[in-house]
Amino acid sequence: MYDYLVVGTGLFGSIFAYEASKKGLKCLVLERRSHIGGNCYTESVENINVHKYGAHIFRTSDENIWKYMQQFCKFNHFVNSPIANFKGEIYNLPFNMNTFSKLWNIFSPKEAREIILQQGKEIQGEPKNLEEHTIKLVGRDVYEKFIKGYTEKQWGRDCKDLPASIIRRIPVRYIYDNNYFNDPYQGIPIGGYTAIFEKMLEKCEVLLEVDFLEQRQEFQNKAKKIIFTGTIDSYFNYKYGALEYRSLRFEHKILDTNNYQGVAVVNYTDRETPYTRTIEHKHFEFGTQEKTVISEEYPLEWNKNIEPYYPINDDKNQELYEKYLELAKKENNVFFGGRLGEYRYYDMQDSVKSALEFSKKELGIL
Ligand SMILES: Cc1cc2nc3c(=O)[nH]c(=O)nc-3n(C[C@H](O)[C@H](O)[C@H](O)COP(=O)(O)OP(=O)(O)OC[C@H]3O[C@@H](n4cnc5c(N)ncnc54)[C@H](O)[C@@H]3O)c2cc1C
Repeated sequence: MYDYLVVGTGLFGSIFAYEASKKGLKCLVLERRSHIGGNCYTESVENINVHKYGAHIFRTSDENIWKYMQQFCKFNHFVNSPIANFKGEIYNLPFNMNTFSKLWNIFSPKEAREIILQQGKEIQGEPKNLEEHTIKLVGRDVYEKFIKGYTEKQWGRDCKDLPASIIRRIPVRYIYDNNYFNDPYQGIPIGGYTAIFEKMLEKCEVLLEVDFLEQRQEFQNKAKKIIFTGTIDSYFNYKYGALEYRSLRFEHKILDTNNYQGVAVVNYTDRETPYTRTIEHKHFEFGTQEKTVISEEYPLEWNKNIEPYYPINDDKNQELYEKYLELAKKENNVFFGGRLGEYRYYDMQDSVKSALEFSKKELGIL
């Protein structure tokens, strides 16, 4: 008899399994994919660590989380400074003085503020949709070149038909600074993410390509307690209907050049380019390999047969989630965690935090 059956080898499941096994508890870990690591998984291709499920940049403002992760890996000094490609015109992101000086041929923050303020006045009164909301916040130029096409591709809908609530804030910096994140700690694990999960799961028994829900009878009585990090609605067999997600499709390509785009992440902000981003993986680790690997990221309508990526936390889905949460509370010795179990958009640091809080509650002092 195992102490815990952990379903899913993403950050939540793996951290819990690590903490439990550190205490001498026996864990059986199931993963339906052919590898561990959830969406953080990296695979070596042409000696380059490829982020198979999209760019993963670890960052946090929490020193404890940063320190916690150091026991599994060393982070390099990568700083995410993506660029935007709008019909071949190149701009720096996030929106900062480098972006504005190229856009309007200006130099000072004062000029940039005035242009944005002036353009925002086009929208009078309460904005009715995402388009109006965004123009009010950052003006028409920024909206049309950087937000409109990208957002419409991502959501598969016109910005006029999207609610303003999708984008609450648009970070605008009136300094010359291309660092995408504000957190003091940021980096990529040297050698890729997968090695982190190998260390976390070292003392556990791991079974790959096993979908717990398809073999529930066989596994549910093998442990005293279950930690489930799959989708909460799937656990209850979609009793109240399915929670909605946005999905993605990745096209990975090996190219016969040593440097394709000169930066890890390029956002294609026009509507015409079918993908939203291209990732050139070697730049995450300052690679000097002869070839390169890129991934194009295509937004995709989700259905039950493909991977769920981004929860759609609108009122309708949130209400549905609350109903599943009520069912979850009634389950004996089954706990739901992580991005899919809690139906929340979690960055890696959020998943780490949530897993550590849960581990403390469940296992006592770590
Ligand atoms: C495209 C993309 C880019 C991202 N970029 C970043 C970034 O730059 N920085 C950042 O901090 N975060 C990023 N994230 C978020 C990050 O991936 C998540 O925070 C993290 O992976 C969540 O870990 P988790 O354990 O909660 O979930 P997951 O990683 O999803 O793990 C859940 C695991 O459970 C398995 N599973 C599900 N159901 C079953 C079942 N029935 N039986 C067996 N196994 C099952 C799944 O296969 C999966 O391996 C990104 C996410 C995406 C989608």
